[in-house]
Amino acid sequence: MSKVIAISNQKGGVGKTTTAVSLGVALADEGKKVLLIDCDSQGSMSIALGIEQPDGLDVSLAEIMSNIVLEEPMGEDYGIHNHEEGVDFVPANIGLSGMELQLTGLMSHERVLREYIDSVKDKYDYILLDCSPSLGMMTINALSAADSVIIPAQPQYLSAKGFDLLLGTVGKVKRQVNPSLKIDGILFTMVDRRTNLAKDIINIVRQHYGSNIRVFDTEIPQSVKAAESVEHGKSIFSHDKKGKVAQAYRELAKEVIALEQPERKKPRTSDSR
Ligand code: ATP
Ligand code: MG
Repeated sequence: MSKVIAISNQKGGVGKTTTAVSLGVALADEGKKVLLIDCDSQGSMSIALGIEQPDGLDVSLAEIMSNIVLEEPMGEDYGIHNHEEGVDFVPANIGLSGMELQLTGLMSHERVLREYIDSVKDKYDYILLDCSPSLGMMTINALSAADSVIIPAQPQYLSAKGFDLLLGTVGKVKRQVNPSLKIDGILFTMVDRRTNLAKDIINIVRQHYGSNIRVFDTEIPQSVKAAESVEHGKSIFSHDKKGKVAQAYRELAKEVIALEQPERKKPRTSDSR
């Protein structure tokens, strides 16, 4: 059984790409087969995985999707790269924005990525989709292909209004595009626990929304090391293996894996009465 998870939030710069890469590598470390798909024409995930100039690639997600649309046969590993840290990935580049325009005129235009994913799904335990900060046709394709969505959010910048808007968007996609889409949870990123604002917002969200929507126990702390690792084309696990961000993503991977395991009854402690 493989699971397709979209990492999505229409707000920019909240840690979507960092989460896709770091969670992907952490899941691979746990022995899972992982495919990361860059669904953003900026190609940030591709750059973070060491492709210096995504725009120079001959084959990227745009060509793959174009082949799907044209019903051109592809080899089964077509366009898939292997990263030294144990994940496979499909890069993206500026070509994806052209693809997005082409899709608009097509029948079933929101299901093209899903068709591709269905063709490679058997080989992977987890397929993570790094979405762009927009609700364009590529994000709709990603949310339509996904089983679930993880929503990274930065507590410092999350207002109650922003949060309601965000959940409204996911609800709308669920109703209109993919009724079986689940929200795996909100993931707080770049958390600076020293500020009261961050603490207050996290507490409010956990209290008010926590009963309807999972807020991951794991919080990703803020660290300059996380920002630096992108420049090296490696994940936080190569750049700062023992640091707090790497540790947090390891814990997140465990939480994500635990979602698929049936709830076990908590053992009764010996001193319970
Ligand atoms: P976009 O919406 O543009 O796609 P994004 O949501 O994918 O952005 P990232 O690119 O992952 O966000 O992160 C935004 C910036 O914050 C990057 O410079 C990244 O290196 C940095 N960053 C990510 N996680 C952390 C962290 N835990 N601590 C400090 N900086 C971080
Ligand atoms: Mg990004």
